[in-house]
Amino acid sequence: MDPESGLDAVRNVGIRDGKIVEISEKPLQGKQSIDAHGLVVAPGFIDLHEHGQEPRNYEFQAHDGVTTSLELEVGTDDVSGWYARRTGKSLINFGVSVGHIPIRMRVMNDPGKWLPTGAAAHKPASLEQLRAMQQSIEAGLKAGALAVGMGINYTEGATHQEIIEMFRVAANYQAPVHVHVRFAGTGEPETGLAAVEEVIAAAAATGTPLHVVHITSIGLSETPQLIQLVEGAQRRGLDVTTECYPYVAASTGLESALFDPGWQERMGITYKDVQWAKTGERLTAETFEKYRAEGGAVVIYAIPESAARTAVANPIVIIASDGMPITGAKVHPRGQGTFSRVLGHYVREEKALDLMTALRKMTLMPALRLEKRAPVFKNKGRIRAGADADITVFDPNTIIDKATFEEPLQFSDGIGFVLVNGVPVIKEGKIVKGVFPGRAARAPIAE
Ligand SMILES: [Zn+2]
Repeated sequence: MDPESGLDAVRNVGIRDGKIVEISEKPLQGKQSIDAHGLVVAPGFIDLHEHGQEPRNYEFQAHDGVTTSLELEVGTDDVSGWYARRTGKSLINFGVSVGHIPIRMRVMNDPGKWLPTGAAAHKPASLEQLRAMQQSIEAGLKAGALAVGMGINYTEGATHQEIIEMFRVAANYQAPVHVHVRFAGTGEPETGLAAVEEVIAAAAATGTPLHVVHITSIGLSETPQLIQLVEGAQRRGLDVTTECYPYVAASTGLESALFDPGWQERMGITYKDVQWAKTGERLTAETFEKYRAEGGAVVIYAIPESAARTAVANPIVIIASDGMPITGAKVHPRGQGTFSRVLGHYVREEKALDLMTALRKMTLMPALRLEKRAPVFKNKGRIRAGADADITVFDPNTIIDKATFEEPLQFSDGIGFVLVNGVPVIKEGKIVKGVFPGRAARAPIAE
């Protein structure tokens, strides 16, 4: 099944030197062969949003059909170092954005570990600090960052003008801005809708490609209205896209600005709807204070099922996991099961969308999002001669996520073979040990 050409037929696929070289109705001869009778052969899944960029996450993701895993929301302050640490050592392809959050934390001396907790969260930047941030973002783009990552909700001290200035730097490099917008939820005036308006205006005024991350946890019950805003912007010629994960809970750091006073009203939840990822316990007023001081991941039950389903079924919404580093036994399951959950639960069981549309949302659409900035994506997300042999082979009758909120560290089922640059990393449903075919998915490095 190839979402670019629409081909859905029985074919033989020939692979050589990491590339697809032939797609034929006639049998092909090869040194090795995979019997894919009765299975779907699809482009490997491209995950635009995965915070866990370590070998263990890559194993879970390979079992979920992911061949390219990208951290584009928080990103990094050290693009070259980030790529160097993974080159030659990775199971699947990897890539990163240059991140406004980590840069703002460095420039403003924030004490936070991953997300800001001090000045970078709450204070406006001086002109000098603003210039330093612009320079760092530009340096990251020159080093081949795929995008500019932003999380305005985590850096609420950043003025509207600061956001526009960061967009301008991205525009000069045709880099999309992948942004967690300023507000979430439905309480006027600080609504998800107003927050999406801010970044669409910034994109329109600066000419910057825009990608709004996890639209369901931003929109909550107003998710359909947010998608409508993105659709309308697209129809008027703006390069704006969005993504979702197929779950009814969000996840982030409890220490972050998202849990500043007023969070219950903003998210429409209370302590018992927040779960400490290390132990799985639901919070109380006492444990909230204790763990917030400690810092760490929580799972937040705030997204209506109707919002998740609407976004998963909508043909313009890309699927992306927002997977988390594995910091505890009860981390959010999305990093381990997103793609199989869409294909097994929403396509097969719920019939919320058809299989080709779902595959398009996890292969071709993320590739199209990035290919202007990073031509390497012109050969990903497709089953065609000349494309990279990043391929996921699954049984549409059995594929399913196994990672649940109770038992999140489970491999997905029904994915028989996963190839990364022509090298099998999953064979007969089992991980292949000791192979590192993943390559840097990176924009061209500027002189
Ligand atoms: Zn986010």
